[in-house]
Amino acid sequence: MTLTEKILARAAGKAKVEAGDNVWVSADVLMTHDVCGPGTIGVFKREFGKTAKVWDKQRVVIIPDHYIFTADSKSNRNVDILRDFVREQGLPYFYDVIDNPDGNWVFDPSKGLLKKQYGSNYAGVCHTALPQKGHTRPGEILFGTDSHTCMAGAFNEFATGIGNTDAGFVMGTGKLLLKVPETMHFRLEGALQPGVMAKDIILHCIGEIGFDGATYRAMQFDGSGVASLSMDDRMTIANMAIEAGGKNGIFEFDAQTKAFVDYRCKLNGTKATYQPVERDANEKFVYDMVVDLSKLEPTVACHPDPGQRKKAKEMDVKLDRAYIGSCTGGKTSDFLEFARVLKGKRVMIDTFGVPATPEIVHDLQTARWGEKTVWQILVDAGVQMTENAGCAACLGGPVDTFGRMNTPMKCISATNRNFPGRMGHKESQVFLASPATVAASALTGKITDPREYWS
Ligand code: SF4
Repeated sequence: MTLTEKILARAAGKAKVEAGDNVWVSADVLMTHDVCGPGTIGVFKREFGKTAKVWDKQRVVIIPDHYIFTADSKSNRNVDILRDFVREQGLPYFYDVIDNPDGNWVFDPSKGLLKKQYGSNYAGVCHTALPQKGHTRPGEILFGTDSHTCMAGAFNEFATGIGNTDAGFVMGTGKLLLKVPETMHFRLEGALQPGVMAKDIILHCIGEIGFDGATYRAMQFDGSGVASLSMDDRMTIANMAIEAGGKNGIFEFDAQTKAFVDYRCKLNGTKATYQPVERDANEKFVYDMVVDLSKLEPTVACHPDPGQRKKAKEMDVKLDRAYIGSCTGGKTSDFLEFARVLKGKRVMIDTFGVPATPEIVHDLQTARWGEKTVWQILVDAGVQMTENAGCAACLGGPVDTFGRMNTPMKCISATNRNFPGRMGHKESQVFLASPATVAASALTGKITDPREYWS
C-alpha cells in the first residue's frame, strides 16, 4: 500500500485497502474557520438537533482567519457565531480574535490596516496555525473545511478539505465515507540551487500534469531529495496538491518531521502520541515522475490557472503589484528569503507583506540582521508590512481587505491560487511564484529571475 492507503486502512479498521474502495474512516481532527464554520455548525444543528454535542471536544479545532481585518459587519459576525458555539460546546481549541470570551469582534478601520488588532489567543491562517499549535501528527486523519487542508500532508498524515455538509456530519459522528484515491508518485532527487525554492518544485510538478492532473488522487512526495527540504518547504509543496486537483499531498516521516511535531505538541500541551506510516515494497502508483531538484529554475504559474508554467527568466511581463503572504508563502522562511533579495534595496511597485500567523510577525520583528530587524529591513525596502496576520487578499475578501486588487492589475504573488478574480477584481491577473521571485520582481517592476540578485 502507499502512504495514503496505509493511513486510510488503519482509520477504517482494515488490514488493507485499494484505490477505489469506499471506506468509513475515523477522523482524528476536524478543523473549521470563520467562512465555513457557521455553515458547518448550521448543518450539524439541523441534522443532529439544537442541543447536540460534537463527537469529541478534543478533536475539533476552530480557527478564524479569513475575513477578519475588515469592517464588513457580516464577516465580523461570523467570528461571533464561532465564539457562541465554542462556549456552548465547551471546546478547548478555539483561537479567537479577541480575548474576552463574552465579547464581540469589531474591526476598527480608524486604527489603519498595519497595526495589530487581535488578542493573545489569535493564531492566524489555519493551515499554518495547525502545526504551530500542535494539531498535526503523522499517521492521522485531518479534515478541514478548506481546500488547502492538504498542507498538513507535510507531516505524513492524510489531510484533505471537505465541504460544510460533510464537516457537519464529522462534527456529529467523527466518521466520513471516503473513496480511497489512486496515488501519483513524485520522487524528488538532488538539492535545490540557490535562488530556487520549494514553491518552484510544486509549480514545476503542477506544470507537468496540469491544474486538473491529480484530480481525486493522492500526490506522494518522497525520495532522497526530501531530506534537504525543511518542514516549511514540505508544507509549501503539500499545500498546493489541491492546485492540481489532488485529494491530498503526503510526505514520508523522518527525523525532521518527528522533531517538529514533538516540539510543537509539547509546547502546546496537545496529544503527543502518534503512529507514522512508512513506505513498503508493494506500492501501486498510477503515475511516476522523477524531479531532479538541482535542475529546477525559478518558475511562474501564469494567469489564469496554477498549471500555466513558465520560467521566470523567459518572461517579459510588466507588473503593477507584488504580494507575499498566505499559508503557502507567508511563513517565516518565506519572508527571510524575500528579505535576502530586498535587503538594502527599494521596491519599484506597490508591495504588500502579510505574515500567516502572529508567531511569524514576532519572528520577523525579533530576528536581527546587523542593526535592523528583518521586519525593519522590509519596511525600509518599501514593503507595506501588516501585523494583522491572516488570509488577507489571498482570496480577495471584502473590498477593504489589505492588499486586495480592487481594479484590474497584474500582480506577482507568493500565494497558491490564481484563477480569475481570486485576489479581487475579476479582470486582474495573478502570477504565482516563490517569495524570492516575488522580491526580485518587486525590485524591477516586471517578472524577474531572483538569481540576478543572489549573492
Ligand atoms: S491564506 Fe489563502 S489559501 Fe491559505 S487558507 Fe487563507 S485564503 Fe486559503
